[in-house]
Amino acid sequence: MKTADYIQIEDQYGAHNYHPLDVVITKAEGIWVTDVDGKKYMDCLSAYSAINQGHVHPRILNALIEQAKKVTLTSRAFRNDQLPLFYKELADLTGYEKSLPMNSGAEAVETAVKLARKWAYTVKKIPKYQAEMIVARDNFHGRTIMEITASTENFYREFFGPFVPGIIPVKYNDPDAIRSAITPNTGMILLEPIQGEAGIIMPDEGYLREVAKICKENNVLLIVDEIQTGLGRTGKMFAFEHEGIRPDIVTIGKALSGGFYPVSAVLADAPLMDLFLPGEHGSTFGGNPLATAVAREALKVIVDEKLVENSAKMGEYFMDHLAEINSPHIKTVRGKGLLIGIELYPKAGGARRFCEALQEKGILAKETHENVIRFAPPLIIKEEDIDWAIPRIREVLQMP
Ligand SMILES: *Cc1c(COP(=O)(O)O)cnc(C)c1O
Repeated sequence: MKTADYIQIEDQYGAHNYHPLDVVITKAEGIWVTDVDGKKYMDCLSAYSAINQGHVHPRILNALIEQAKKVTLTSRAFRNDQLPLFYKELADLTGYEKSLPMNSGAEAVETAVKLARKWAYTVKKIPKYQAEMIVARDNFHGRTIMEITASTENFYREFFGPFVPGIIPVKYNDPDAIRSAITPNTGMILLEPIQGEAGIIMPDEGYLREVAKICKENNVLLIVDEIQTGLGRTGKMFAFEHEGIRPDIVTIGKALSGGFYPVSAVLADAPLMDLFLPGEHGSTFGGNPLATAVAREALKVIVDEKLVENSAKMGEYFMDHLAEINSPHIKTVRGKGLLIGIELYPKAGGARRFCEALQEKGILAKETHENVIRFAPPLIIKEEDIDWAIPRIREVLQMP
């Protein structure tokens, strides 16, 4: 079968909730993927940053295979011998005393908000079910009903109400907007350190620091969603480290498994995490031995291969070269580490056609919103790979 055959079958039998590029991938290794017609591409999306360690990393693959031969699922009705080590290693790595494993990022954010609500009622003593959560406009936190309530993207919400009460969106990158939205019932603020899906929107330096301060002053929990920005993507283990803050609750996912398997987690210190009592929250697959064995290895690869440092170094190299491209379409190039966006002028006709042209040249990147091309290759990328990509990207951006 050829590309067109697969696409025909997919369109006929699958829900149309995505608009993928017309490339049908059958194999991948490192930063490269191969399609069913044998064409090779550099992956500059990394499955929205789930592939920070590179595709089919041999060490993570081996951990998956070895664990799959032993035991894959026990449910949390019983204990398993991987989960305790996952907890301990994640605590050692992140500095948070405890964690709670889930599967998708969406579930991690739901879990974080449930934990913060429990704190709001039992510790802060907000009258029951009056707790309010402040979120940023143009956020992306996932697709559950609570998360689309928090979204300000009409397309994500329009036909999916009724919504969850008590969620207050305010302008991103504006501490005063948060200050004026705070009431005695504000329990938590949920933010991305960089808004990835919104188009790599970077707040001013000092914004997160100011928000953290506002939270302290008002006895409000700060939840930072690092599902896309965390685990090395921005040149630090966590993007909030650029601001020298320490949120009360952090969500991670995506690269936590190196792309092998859905694994997410919520991080917090013991006084908070211990608010959850047995039975109050759970997941059949959350914390299963296959997931945690894979995640343990995925985290070790980030450390052993110095991917955080490489992300910072290669990010700077990539961005410097992108910034040198002379094109009438480019409005700005921005990013941190290997999370980079090229914003095009609206008159360029949308980022999609440039992504399609990049595909022709052997580079897979995806538009985010109308006018931004996101470049987020695996963190294992080398200078010579970027040297290969730059002239191709330049040619595409210089087309009429
Ligand atoms: C991808 C993402 C999520 C949702 O993760 P899923 O695994 O797709 O549910 C949540 N928050 C952020 C910032 C993300 O980038």
